[in-house]
Amino acid sequence: MKAQPKASHFIGGEWVDDTTGAMFESRYPATGEVIARLYSATPAVIDRALDTARDAQLDWAKRLPVERGRILRRAADLLRERNRDLSVLETLDTGKPLQETLVADAASGADALEYFAGFAATVAGQTIPLGRDMAYTLREPHGVCAGIGAWNYPIQIAAWKAAPALAFGNAMVFKPSEETPLSALALAEILHEAGLPPGLFNVVQGMGETGAALCTDPRVAKVSLTGSVPTGRSVYAAAGAGLKAVTMELGGKSPLIIFDDADLDNAVGAAMLANFYSSGQICSNGTRVFVQRAVKDAFLEKLAARASRIVLGDPLDEATQMGPLISAAHMDKVLNYIHAGQAEGARLVCGGARHGSTGNFVQPTVFAEVQDSMKIAREEIFGPVMSVLDFEDEGEVIARANDTEYGLAAGVFTRDLTRAHTVVAQLHAGTCWINAYNLTPVEMPFGGVKASGVGRENGHAALEHYTRVKSVYLGLGDVEAPY
Ligand code: NDP
Repeated sequence: MKAQPKASHFIGGEWVDDTTGAMFESRYPATGEVIARLYSATPAVIDRALDTARDAQLDWAKRLPVERGRILRRAADLLRERNRDLSVLETLDTGKPLQETLVADAASGADALEYFAGFAATVAGQTIPLGRDMAYTLREPHGVCAGIGAWNYPIQIAAWKAAPALAFGNAMVFKPSEETPLSALALAEILHEAGLPPGLFNVVQGMGETGAALCTDPRVAKVSLTGSVPTGRSVYAAAGAGLKAVTMELGGKSPLIIFDDADLDNAVGAAMLANFYSSGQICSNGTRVFVQRAVKDAFLEKLAARASRIVLGDPLDEATQMGPLISAAHMDKVLNYIHAGQAEGARLVCGGARHGSTGNFVQPTVFAEVQDSMKIAREEIFGPVMSVLDFEDEGEVIARANDTEYGLAAGVFTRDLTRAHTVVAQLHAGTCWINAYNLTPVEMPFGGVKASGVGRENGHAALEHYTRVKSVYLGLGDVEAPY
């Protein structure tokens, strides 16, 4: 199985390779087979990408917004036309089942391109009456934005960053995770084919150092990272030293609260989606499932029955519901968390081990009687491991849900809508769901508070993060100088 791209990087509308860069491999997580070999960007490659982006952005910013939107809209159509091929590529690179990638990856990227294509021409400033004089504001692009992606949703992350950046007149240099380098290149090629002028969306490959080089370069005005909290801290610090604008989409340990009046089948379904979709490798997952004591046993019974029917296997088979984890190293990390849960006395309800002996598969795992202090309840595992915790009353569960350094997301299941809104209002999370979980339509801003992030992606909120405001004071009378 091969998915070798034409070259490692895409810069200025061209495929670029520099074989003096460190070679790295992309592996199919279901078998460990090498599917592509690429080269990390050398300083010369990074330099070329930033120069071409800087030059191209100057003209792009002068284009009519509606023209910029038209190109993005064409790219959205191309993504949709090629959804199957792109989904197979994403499945090979990430190991996520085709059943998921067909609906959640390139498709979500297309939604973002379409949304921001329409948004572009609606951007306007304010006029501010000041008596005789007046002021007005303009929304200007930052210039060159650096995008740095995680490996769980590679094309979605690239498109969620590229679409608003380009719509509002910026250029982007994007570095995918070295675990999943392929689909951002496919996106770059499609944007180019849709008519995006060369140099506006460039992809450079590499490890953390490539990302770090982008964060400190004076040609970069804004950095948008999707990654873990430790990486977020160092990227934020590096960007801060250069006083660059940032968006940080980081990790989480989100609470999902199920009250005893909830529709239990829906709550079980949501808890499973919130822990097992993409083998649990989703930042906003509701990994601390708080279940009110009166319904805990019924909840666990339904959950165990449904979890035992999850189909693990060949990700390319559309009947497969759960694929492997991204790498052997990550699988070991997740298995270590499972061992820690057992060692700390949590009750294993189902799963708890590796699945098979080929590939990085871990069984869907549920722990009950989890205590707040346990490692599995405090740290982001990023695998298919659900912790179920009991609670008695509303005040107690809100305090416990908020007792974490993270604040990405939260969910509430109840039929009592007053309670739902009251609880959500008190949760320290950037994105909340009521009687739903993990739905992230492009129309809705997405992002975290506390250690989970800075800024928002998607929705109208993205305008704040991919433009800056210029204020213009217009003097309409004589200048009254006191001297
Ligand atoms: P990492 O933080 O390990 O890496 C993210 C990206 O940053 C990678 O491209 C990585 O390069 C790069 N990077 C690493 N170090 C630096 C550095 N010093 N300077 C600049 N760039 C650097 O995250 P993962 O890829 O492991 O992704 C999983 C994490 O992402 C989880 O914590 C998850 O919660 C979070 N995430 C957050 C989302 C959100 O929207 N809030 C969505 C999806 C994931 P490389 O790895 O190639 O070396």
